[in-house]
Amino acid sequence: MQYSGELIRALQAVVGTRGVVMGDAALMTYEADGCVMDLHAPNIVVLPQTSEQTAAIVKIAHQARIPVVARGAGTGLSGGATPIHGGIVIAMTRMDQVLEVDAANRRVRVQPGVINWELSQQLAPHGYAFMPDPSSQKACTLGGNIANNSGGPHCLKYGMTTNHVLALRTVLPNGDLIWTGNGRIDTVGYDLAGVMTGSEGMFGIVTEAWVRMTRLPEALRVVLALFPDIPSASQTVSTIIARGILPAALEMMDKLAIKAVNGMYKLGLPDSAGSALLIEVDGVSDGLDELLAQVVGICREHGAIEVRPATTAAEQAQVWAARKNAFGAMGRLSPSYYLVDTVVPRTKLPAILAHVGDVAKDFHLPIANVFHAGDGNLHPLILFDRRDKQQLERALGAATEILKESVRLGGVVSGEHGIGVEKRDYMDILFTTADLAAMAGLRKSFDPLDLFNPGKVFPARTGCGELAELRQNAISANEITALPSGTWI
Ligand SMILES: Cc1cc2nc3c(=O)[nH]c(=O)nc-3n(C[C@H](O)[C@H](O)[C@H](O)COP(=O)(O)OP(=O)(O)OC[C@H]3O[C@@H](n4cnc5c(N)ncnc54)[C@H](O)[C@@H]3O)c2cc1C
Repeated sequence: MQYSGELIRALQAVVGTRGVVMGDAALMTYEADGCVMDLHAPNIVVLPQTSEQTAAIVKIAHQARIPVVARGAGTGLSGGATPIHGGIVIAMTRMDQVLEVDAANRRVRVQPGVINWELSQQLAPHGYAFMPDPSSQKACTLGGNIANNSGGPHCLKYGMTTNHVLALRTVLPNGDLIWTGNGRIDTVGYDLAGVMTGSEGMFGIVTEAWVRMTRLPEALRVVLALFPDIPSASQTVSTIIARGILPAALEMMDKLAIKAVNGMYKLGLPDSAGSALLIEVDGVSDGLDELLAQVVGICREHGAIEVRPATTAAEQAQVWAARKNAFGAMGRLSPSYYLVDTVVPRTKLPAILAHVGDVAKDFHLPIANVFHAGDGNLHPLILFDRRDKQQLERALGAATEILKESVRLGGVVSGEHGIGVEKRDYMDILFTTADLAAMAGLRKSFDPLDLFNPGKVFPARTGCGELAELRQNAISANEITALPSGTWI
């Protein structure tokens, strides 16, 4: 659909002609994020440089009842930034400034387009870092991290993005611009920053954020431990935590993933390795070697075939690069992969990984595993060729099996990548109609017209409006009735 000249001129008046992107070829860039299962181009893309411009764009869209999708770097893996109903994509990449470093209050004020890695680089000379570190950190933005409540290897010890967000400046779906607090003292009233974080761009568009700066540890130690199989590494993870040790990171790779990174990073790991744990401990120097020795002892107790400390900064950077770029290394094994994001209680890791192995056999597709083992956050990578329709079908079927088993084992369907489009139809495996209705009621209170990132999070067969209506009825009748089957739309 072509937008009217009047609408285009109104947007250009806000951001200038170079801030408005049109034309099929240019819009193709915005038709998906990192999840290329669902493609849909927007009608127009607008690139604001300030909060006020963002609010003005939203006001225009609101008046014209046009859907709006915020976009950071587009590295999301759940289709969150994909404009499945078209409309206006507001790309935040020009708002990429670190505005204020406030060391006295251990906080930093940023625009949402700041790249996660660059923020930590800018904070390092002050002795600080922004701790949530998704493996995509060299590309993804703070806005995307906040909207998805992203995690990363160091979130085991330091917490997810939500634990680092202090206050947000946000454009609401009607174009109002609010601050959720001042980022210095606890806000009274509802915790709106908490509500916004993880809301996948459906409640508001973040245009500025106060986030926590965390003091860099005095020292750290990294060790790579190789095991004959998955159960021995999984047991090691459980024992480390059970003995009261909280590593900064505790990451696992299976045999297939080791093969991929070995080829790419020349790590020289033995073929006999069935799994590897990358373990980092950090803190004050005193006692850190003893802590590492304890960790190494636990690895050996559980049958580690080799334990390799990464002693120099260069060695540490090499093993971390291998882990953080492991997804990219899959290109050595297969033309495409489908990355599943799921979580189980840590003690259920051996059971779910055995199930993943069975699924690989049943669906005749290789599956590699690279994941945040300390959190029980699994990332099976289903390897397939997307040009082959049958393989695509099998990959989708395999993912469903893994997700269902995760829920059966007491887990959830996403650890950090968000629900977006990809996982929306799994939401009713996990939640009751009443649960979903409560969420829809919250959504509706921010966005009664369903304009911000429509079509995400709620099952496709359930209208968000329908759930909100149920919620509304429930509030008046003080009860929630289950949706009769066949009423899903
Ligand atoms: C190789 C690879 C590794 C990854 N590793 C991890 C990992 O370890 N941990 C992890 O959690 N994720 C990981 N991801 C997923 C992804 O990088 C994260 O979800 C990231 O936070 C997305 O940031 P982005 O800037 O690319 O956001 P986008 O993909 O552009 O958008 C993500 C969501 O945020 C919304 N959004 C974006 N900006 C704003 C804003 N300013 N205001 C409101 N809403 C907004 C969008 O509408 C969308 O719903 C990985 C992805 C890749 C490709």
